[in-house]
Amino acid sequence: MSETKYIFVTGGVVSSLGKGIVAASLGKLLQARGYSVTIQKFDPYINIDPGTLNPYEHGECYVTDDGHEADLDLGHYERFLNIATSRANNITTGRIYQNVIRKERKGDYLGKTVQVVPHITDEIKRNVKLLGQKKQFDFVITEIGGTVGDIESLPFLESVRQLKWELGQNCLCVHLTYVPYIAAAGEMKTKPTQHSVKQLQELGIQPDILVLRTEHPLQQEILRKVALFCNVAPDSVVQCVDVSTIYEVPLALQAQQLDETVLKKFTLDAAEHPINLEQWNKFLALRSGATKAVNIALVGKYVELQDAYKSIDESLMQAAIYNQRRLNLVSIHSERITSDNVAELLEGMDGVVIAPGFGSRGIDGKFEALRYTREHNIPTLGICLGMQCMVIEFARNVLGLEGAHTTEIMPETPYKVVDLMEEQKTISELGGSMRLGGYDCVLRKGSRIAEAYGREFIRERHRHRFEFNSQYREAFEAAGMICAGENPDTGLVETVELPEHRWYIGVQFHPEYNSTVVNPNPLFLSFVRAAIRE
Ligand code: GLN
Repeated sequence: MSETKYIFVTGGVVSSLGKGIVAASLGKLLQARGYSVTIQKFDPYINIDPGTLNPYEHGECYVTDDGHEADLDLGHYERFLNIATSRANNITTGRIYQNVIRKERKGDYLGKTVQVVPHITDEIKRNVKLLGQKKQFDFVITEIGGTVGDIESLPFLESVRQLKWELGQNCLCVHLTYVPYIAAAGEMKTKPTQHSVKQLQELGIQPDILVLRTEHPLQQEILRKVALFCNVAPDSVVQCVDVSTIYEVPLALQAQQLDETVLKKFTLDAAEHPINLEQWNKFLALRSGATKAVNIALVGKYVELQDAYKSIDESLMQAAIYNQRRLNLVSIHSERITSDNVAELLEGMDGVVIAPGFGSRGIDGKFEALRYTREHNIPTLGICLGMQCMVIEFARNVLGLEGAHTTEIMPETPYKVVDLMEEQKTISELGGSMRLGGYDCVLRKGSRIAEAYGREFIRERHRHRFEFNSQYREAFEAAGMICAGENPDTGLVETVELPEHRWYIGVQFHPEYNSTVVNPNPLFLSFVRAAIRE
């Protein structure tokens, strides 16, 4: 395609409508027609990135291969499109202002008064177009975080308004709204949608396509009414009814020809690019055929929040489906687990995942869970802090190093089995130290983890400060915990395992950031396979 096309996705009425899923689903449909697609998210908050946000605030922090701590919607984009995203795919108000202020300090504005319009909006527009510049993508979809009407998103919407003029035929706006059902009246209400579109129009943006989120199917007549009142073509209003899995959303939108409508608006011929969703449909067929359950416990401290472990949940679900099982994920709050109730809490679990995390809260529960699964031969996957807990539990209860701990939680511990490796510090924009993003890892031939991956050279993403303390490596190996994976450049221990156990593997990296619908992560596949009891 000669010129990159830009699609903006905005949201109205309420938040949490699933703009990210709609953006990813539209991207999927265009990709399935042979186009190259990328998606970016603009977040209106002032944090430079979500790295410092507590999961209670904004759900999971996703990590890209190039080491960016990103909004969890980037995880959806990667899982749907099977593409890698990068730092350029997630921009916040904070980053925009930081760039502008940096330029101001350098004197780039040459005595001008620096203002929201045009300087902030210009910087937003520059970032919107960044991904399209190299002509790598036919479509760049930009999701604007927040809800129309928020003060925070105004500069982004003003930028979209300007871009509609600048990009002309190469630009399209999709607006997602909500149609509530009023039970007492037995009616679906379109007024909030009309108001939300009016608000957009007041900002100078006429949406080209409306996607109506609804819990109950909408009659055609309601869609026609919305089209009429919102100044949108009748074929350009589609509904997005609740479905049993987010992975059905692309199909639901395709059934209403959303992809064809988009192509038509760009004067592209859909017939020249027939759709191929074979792999996608295969996954969905496997999903509906999976009736037997596999019970997996996720032990973490943010379990009450639905999105806190999003990528782990999705990776486990994908792995279960590819193993012809339905995932029964049981979240267990690590703060609740004690030596007295651990057997009861883990009863009936086929496998246990020990979640990543920061800080000391709930860590003792993780040790109790690990001791139990290690001693009772229950398949266990430890991720990041989960692996560090595996190491500490083993040091305490097998090596007899009673005071073993991590300096993160207990700086004065006599046995720092998880220690801070000063020389490994990478300085993030905030000046904190964190090993972030994709790193190579070599797996020992014949190890359980090499068997799981089916290869000896892998690359996975990291997000942590602390490392296995290599001083103890020999002692661990002599006692039966094998450090099978290491970073080829630094020799840092990346994975541990118990070869005699049914499946007991800890990884310092986060395999969950690398698992997509059509390309599930081998470690999760192997873990779930081991957990299944015939
Ligand atoms: N808190 C641990 C560290 O910084 C683990 C981090 C994590 O689980 N992502 O090393």
